[in-house]
Amino acid sequence: MLLGPPGAGKGTQAERLIAQYKIAQLSTGVMLRAAAMAGTVLGRKVKAIIARGDLVPDDVVIGLIAEAIDLSTVKTGFVLDGFPRTVSQAIALDNLLNNRGLAIDAVIELKMDEAALLNRIETRAAKNRSDGQSVREDDDPSILIQRIKNYKVQTAPLSDYYGKVGLLIPIDGMQPIDVVESNIKKALQKLHCSTT
Ligand code: AMP
Repeated sequence: MLLGPPGAGKGTQAERLIAQYKIAQLSTGVMLRAAAMAGTVLGRKVKAIIARGDLVPDDVVIGLIAEAIDLSTVKTGFVLDGFPRTVSQAIALDNLLNNRGLAIDAVIELKMDEAALLNRIETRAAKNRSDGQSVREDDDPSILIQRIKNYKVQTAPLSDYYGKVGLLIPIDGMQPIDVVESNIKKALQKLHCSTT
């Protein structure tokens, strides 16, 4: 599992982990944006919530994750990116995994400071603009402040939740991307996570 504030690089690191470990990426943000783009009933419901930087209700994301975990493509394992984001989601995840005889190997927390976060998000928006890609509406700095606020109140308590059960691995998320990647992999090797 990758834990960390918006802009910490969870998506980027998740992509690298799935390539190395040949496992699936389960990202609620990706699933929700796809639903919003497709204009499904769910998509229409969540679009405005995402745009203002708030969290989508727990039951919605728990349902998405439960469905995704049951797909045969994830049977070899998966990286959770952007889920859970509340303690209720974490408890629901524990139940989902227990019922299926699965367990979390590690919770990687990408540690960031707030100024660095704002900087990184602005860089990401500028890069997307210059690449001609559409900028994520919720990467607007004012929305980002709301997302960081929500992170502190609703998601940060997960550090304690996973720390208490010995799963938490804090990693400095302010290092260059390759350094963060290599530090994550070193930490996972210590846990004997195999790449095959
Ligand atoms: P992300 O791509 O992970 O930054 O997610 C983008 C947005 O989707 C978030 O700001 C939330 O509005 C929504 N979202 C993604 N994952 C969750 C989650 N686990 N719980 C609630 N809302 C979520």
